[in-house]
Amino acid sequence: MTALPPGSTIGILGGGQLGRMLALAAAPLGLKCHIYSDVPGPAFDVAAKSQVGPFEDTDKIRAFAETVDVVTYEFENVPLEAAAAAQAAAPVRPGPKALAVAQDRLEEKSFIRGIGIPVAPFANVDSDASLKAALAAIGEAGILKTRRLGYDGKGQVRIKSAAELAPAFESLKRAPCVLEGLVPFAYEVSVLVVRSLAGEVRFYDLPLNTHKDGILDTSTVPSPLPAAHVARATEIAGAIATALDYVGVLGVEMFYLPDAAEPLVVNEIAPRVHNSGHWTMDACLVGQFENHIRAVAGWPIGPTTRHSDVTMTNLIGADVDRWQAFAAEPDTAVHLYGKPEARPGRKMGHVNRLKPRQ
Ligand code: AMP
Repeated sequence: MTALPPGSTIGILGGGQLGRMLALAAAPLGLKCHIYSDVPGPAFDVAAKSQVGPFEDTDKIRAFAETVDVVTYEFENVPLEAAAAAQAAAPVRPGPKALAVAQDRLEEKSFIRGIGIPVAPFANVDSDASLKAALAAIGEAGILKTRRLGYDGKGQVRIKSAAELAPAFESLKRAPCVLEGLVPFAYEVSVLVVRSLAGEVRFYDLPLNTHKDGILDTSTVPSPLPAAHVARATEIAGAIATALDYVGVLGVEMFYLPDAAEPLVVNEIAPRVHNSGHWTMDACLVGQFENHIRAVAGWPIGPTTRHSDVTMTNLIGADVDRWQAFAAEPDTAVHLYGKPEARPGRKMGHVNRLKPRQ
């Protein structure tokens, strides 16, 4: 189990803002990043090398992996064939199992439930017959979600009565789905867990997350979650990371039901650094991006200790136009992703507003 020495190169599949912040975090450790992505993106501006190519081109992916010392990824929809092609030439961390589980809501929920962790009630929907069976199992109120490629609330339809289910399935183009029962949560929390190659597990403090139009708006730390429930939430996230033999940062999103016998229900996992962990960049000794790099490079993971209270606010679309005002705010760190066009709904940057730790 040898750590990659400074001067080594990490290959990152995906060229978005997460890849950009990973590459920026690798630099102070003396590690270089090479990016492979289907389109040029924010990571290209800061990486030692970048390459455009389709994720379906397994020969190209393998050739890319041959030029680096380890391969990681910054989005969960890397095709499994691409991960396998990369793995033929270099270690892929986190491993392809995490990808397979996180890419498919049915696999994900089955896996998590299979290790004894609560998830929302769910049923597979891939035909008219299974639609009927799902309705019988889950009841009338639920959410129909596509098994693959949903994010930020896309690819899902809320159902309020039995009559709405079939049209909802049609509107999702009869793509394979899961019907989920509605969880009456008080709020949503996420756990950012980092697991080293040697199997050591550390957690960041839990943020309280708010959403706007289905997109993460703010993450505030500390969250009001009682200590006993924080302990349970980290236990759950640690169990998932260990069961996946995970290496790197894993995001585990949960619903919180204060009065339920099982107050924490897992919604989904993200096998990568996570937007609800962006506050760690400025409020922790070692943030999520550096810790992901450390883990995949086989280094000891760094302290996840938080030195400040913080609210992270995403800058979506035209929010970024106020960059001068943000830059003038006291105790505020500004992170802009350098995207050329501030389209509505597009994540353009974030600000971390710090306060002394209470
Ligand atoms: P997802 O794409 O699964 O993260 O869902 C997007 C959002 O929809 C979540 O952040 C929740 O606010 C809401 N949601 C998803 N699944 C459920 C559920 N089973 N019960 C209640 N709300 C849900």
